Amino acid sequence: MSSAGPIARLVCELGKLPGVGEKTAARLAFHILRAPPEDAAALAAAIGEMRAKISFCTVCWDFTEEDPCPICRDARRDSSLVCVVAQPQDVLAIERAGGYRGRYHVLHGVLSPLDGIGPDDLRVAELVKRCSGDIKEVIIATNPSVEGETTAVYLAKLLRPLGVRCSRIAMGVPVGGELEYADRLTLSRAIDGRREM
Ligand SMILES: [Zn+2]
Repeated sequence: MSSAGPIARLVCELGKLPGVGEKTAARLAFHILRAPPEDAAALAAAIGEMRAKISFCTVCWDFTEEDPCPICRDARRDSSLVCVVAQPQDVLAIERAGGYRGRYHVLHGVLSPLDGIGPDDLRVAELVKRCSGDIKEVIIATNPSVEGETTAVYLAKLLRPLGVRCSRIAMGVPVGGELEYADRLTLSRAIDGRREM
């Protein structure tokens, strides 16, 4: 069983990934073992290259290859408007949707007292520092979960005294959805977040 060591090590490493249990980790490891050697090498190289080249943007704290990131460097984007998100994936989602022309700030998590995650564990101090500059409005785009709402309320209380306008993204009925199937919370948020037309 001379190969038990390397296989077990890879299974152990893959098992650390989110959503990957021991069985899935073993399945992936054996898949990689059976795949052409160049595929396995490409996977290993891609992981290595990503870790070597990607770091934080020291303005918005998104992941980037160059610091500041392309969005922070883009002079055509409104630097007085900042959208605060929990995760880098949220920046991708909003950019994919198109239409937003401000900048971002990535918190890298949300407040979660039960899990021991407080403001010091997030990029909150960096946001406060940015807000003492030329930022006029902050759109808080954390998820509509208990933690996301707690974080939004906390940030609004913190930033308003700095003279920054704080808004929350509207939550409501999804496009293509039907009112009768929307849950009560979603529907009440949709009515609260109504806008004049
Ligand atoms: Zn940036």
